[in-house]
Amino acid sequence: MKAIQVQNPGKNSSLAIEEVPTPKPGPNELLVKIKASALNRADLLQRTGNYPPPESASNILGLEMAGTIEKTGREVEQWEAGDRVFGLLAGGGYAQYCTLHENMAMAIPDNLSFNEAAAIPETFLTAFQSLDWLGKLQKQETVLIHAGGSGVGTSAIQLARHLYDAQIITTAGKQYKLDAAKKLGADFAYNYKTQNYAEEIKNNVGPESVDLIIDFIGKPYWHNNMEVLGMDGRVVYLSFLGGHKIEEPSLIPILRKRLTVIGSTLRSRSLDYKASLTKDFAEHCLPLFNKEVLNPFIDSTFNWKNTEEAHQRMQDNKNTGKIILTGM
Ligand code: NAP
Repeated sequence: MKAIQVQNPGKNSSLAIEEVPTPKPGPNELLVKIKASALNRADLLQRTGNYPPPESASNILGLEMAGTIEKTGREVEQWEAGDRVFGLLAGGGYAQYCTLHENMAMAIPDNLSFNEAAAIPETFLTAFQSLDWLGKLQKQETVLIHAGGSGVGTSAIQLARHLYDAQIITTAGKQYKLDAAKKLGADFAYNYKTQNYAEEIKNNVGPESVDLIIDFIGKPYWHNNMEVLGMDGRVVYLSFLGGHKIEEPSLIPILRKRLTVIGSTLRSRSLDYKASLTKDFAEHCLPLFNKEVLNPFIDSTFNWKNTEEAHQRMQDNKNTGKIILTGM
């Protein structure tokens, strides 16, 4: 098969489509002909050599895909060749074929194309895990979702709106991302480049009014996050795009407000964990895609021959939602 290979991993890496061995499905795995894949921020890190895949995962980029089953492993009972499936990968999405454990596959809702389905797994599962499993968001609580125009952000806003009827506050650095976040269900959207979101929240929502924060930014937001959280507040850290060394941190808010600070990764979790998360998501969220209450939020679609261009768009922080790769 053909797959995208990283040449010269590091600062000056490049991508090339090359011939590589087609993966062989194990007894409980599916061999899937990939019709569409999607970008994730982690792909940009991996090509620099800073985010190696977990042991035993494919070293090909790509954390999600949608396609049709070509072949099933000998012990697979719940799927058959020809089924349209999509799911989370630990690697291997930038290719013509991948293998997927049968318990990690989800049936593509009839109303979704392959491109639309490929826009869902990584960001929606991460958002679901963060809001529900980790952040324990309750009905009508207030959630602050940073990077509201990101793939994970656009997914989290939709889930917070439709699963929890939450009051949603978001931040982003561009007006078109703030507009998109509001259309998706955010009640308040602040531009972190021109506004102090802690001040805005204090004035417009209330002091110490946030129950849960989903943060990808880290350092520049720590003090404001500590300020806006209310009693028994939670903050889930998924990434540190703005840095990880905090200046003059104080632990006092954590004690005084009984805060919970959570860090998480998804890719490195066990197969059992990811399969349980997939099952829970398929049960509670997929029916809402069927009804078009939840929707994949696609920024742009690139032929995989132009993946370099697609990466540049993400690197420049231009995308709102997902960038899709197709034409494998
Ligand atoms: P994405 O679509 O590329 O969006 C990231 C956005 O973050 C950028 O477009 C930019 O939007 C904003 N941003 C970047 N640098 C920033 C900074 N220094 N300060 C403030 N905002 C900044 O990313 P994604 O694929 O959805 O992923 C979002 C983050 O979640 C990534 O860091 C990714 O690695 C992480 N993630 C973690 C997990 C996990 O389990 N831990 C799983 C999935 C993703 P603006 O234009 O608004 O600045």
